[in-house]
Amino acid sequence: MKLLEERILQDGIIEDGAVLKVDSFLNHQMDVELFAEMGREWARLFAGDQVNKILTIEASGIGIACVAAQQFHVPVVFAKKNKTKNIAGDVYTSQVESFTHGRVYDIMLSKKFLLPSDRVLIIDDFLANGAALQGLIKLVRDAGATLVGAGIAIEKAFQPGGALIRSQGIRVESLARIRSMSENGIEFC
Ligand code: 5GP
Repeated sequence: MKLLEERILQDGIIEDGAVLKVDSFLNHQMDVELFAEMGREWARLFAGDQVNKILTIEASGIGIACVAAQQFHVPVVFAKKNKTKNIAGDVYTSQVESFTHGRVYDIMLSKKFLLPSDRVLIIDDFLANGAALQGLIKLVRDAGATLVGAGIAIEKAFQPGGALIRSQGIRVESLARIRSMSENGIEFC
């Protein structure tokens, strides 16, 4: 998606070689007009797939998922990063190794918000090693719901997540795919 690529080139900041900071329009301050364009693009790509629920993960996925959901006219449910040890039995859980924070955390989702009849589109901001997406996919599988695919804002295609998830037969639609990034600039696929 040209608009997102241009915005990354204009405002993205590369940190430590492999981390792209997009705080000015996606991860801290949020450009909801851009989000609306992204939502329209996912709605076009997944038209006809009868998506009836969008699943994301707190915190950065929530904004884009909500704006996308306005195009699909479906509810959004987000996996919570679990901070308490005593998990009640009425939740699906999964473990995620954080790329940006370098630690493992639990995510959880109330069973009442993900049903076997659901046709789920996962939305997230970044795809890097694929751990966050893998964790969300497990929640969908545990619920017995149908996974329609994943809509990703920015895929760092030089990291293994995209290939890993696609090799499982899962449809991944990334709006900007970065082939490489360095002090010399960012190159898209
Ligand atoms: P993965 O689990 O695919 O390795 O990483 C995905 C998650 O890590 C995303 O939800 C995002 O929050 C975070 N992340 C991974 N790479 C980047 C990056 O380059 N920049 C930012 N801002 N977040 C990232």
